Amino acid sequence: MAKVIYPGTFDPVTNGHIDIVYRAVELFDEVIVTVARNPTKTILFSVDERVDMLRESFKDLKKVVVDSFEGLVVDHARNLNAIGIIRGLRAISDFEYEFQMALMNRKLAGEITTILLMPHAKYTYLNSTIVRNLAQFHGDISEFVPPHVFERLKKKFDYK
Ligand code: ADP
Repeated sequence: MAKVIYPGTFDPVTNGHIDIVYRAVELFDEVIVTVARNPTKTILFSVDERVDMLRESFKDLKKVVVDSFEGLVVDHARNLNAIGIIRGLRAISDFEYEFQMALMNRKLAGEITTILLMPHAKYTYLNSTIVRNLAQFHGDISEFVPPHVFERLKKKFDYK
């Protein structure tokens, strides 16, 4: 059984992340979407909130499991017997970072392969930071996140 993990911050999950997961389930038997507990980034939603939003987003996909991890991605992948790490590639700007991570992870765990998937072109300019910034100023982000995520952002930022 081919199992892969899709690690990230998901603060919050966007339609771009969701697009990647829908592509991954076409290729693999199980996709574990896993929230990094120790990112170096400034975080808006707690790990539990991010996990909840991911679970809600993928409740209709039987092949998707959501969890969280602390430490190295490759250790989490090994613990779960995953054969690969899924990452999303939007533009040239992602390439250098993803390439560096993929090669470092290969050095750490040669048996685990990084798989980069491209989203639909309409999501190539989308990321969680832009969504948080728009929400902070009560922008309409209905095209970028599922309705339940928009509701959470409305509450966080006191939309009228
Ligand atoms: P991280 O902090 O690990 O980069 P993110 O939640 O920002 O966590 O992203 C997780 C993965 O999803 C990364 O591989 C990123 O390139 C990818 N990703 C983020 N936004 C999109 C998008 N709009 N389309 C496709 N992939 C995306």
